[in-house]
Amino acid sequence: MKKTVESYFKTIADFPTEGILFRDVTSVLGDADGFKLAIDEMLGAIDGEAIDVIIGIEARGFMFAPVLAYTLGKPFVPVRKAGKLPRETVSATYALEYGEASIEMHADAISPGDRVLIVDDLIATGGTAKAAANMVEELGGKVASFLFLAELTYLDGREVLGDYKVHSIVEF
Ligand code: IMP
Repeated sequence: MKKTVESYFKTIADFPTEGILFRDVTSVLGDADGFKLAIDEMLGAIDGEAIDVIIGIEARGFMFAPVLAYTLGKPFVPVRKAGKLPRETVSATYALEYGEASIEMHADAISPGDRVLIVDDLIATGGTAKAAANMVEELGGKVASFLFLAELTYLDGREVLGDYKVHSIVEF
């Protein structure tokens, strides 16, 4: 029987803190068949969409977005934690369980009117993804869609993303 992408995920209880059920994407990437299946299904999910730029969110979004960008012949743009990018940036702040965090992207990475695909390994509360969308729009870009390998449906991150188009391959 053909294996599912979900079957390549390992689940770790109480990581990084007690009470959290962590879905480990490294076990998907660490299996050549799992990685290929994950990329193929991600490409299938966005098949036919008009996309100019592909954004990946640090750190695990970097494991998928560049592969998609290379395959589709589109530019890859990194969204990084604050203070890592060398040129002029825009930034967005989002809430964490305790406190807040900021992410940044280069100000010249998006041109007005660009249709942007935002990629991460996983959507939990949706805060990180929404912050990335805010930066895209601040630069005049349009969010074509979001693409996640996995979605923690019980955290309702999709609600935070409102009317945006959201693709996820595996639902936990
Ligand atoms: P959100 O902002 O709450 O949606 O959190 C999403 C971010 O947290 C993503 O960048 C994920 O990489 C990371 N994340 C949260 N929970 C997990 C998990 O169970 N496995 C892997 N990454 C996670």
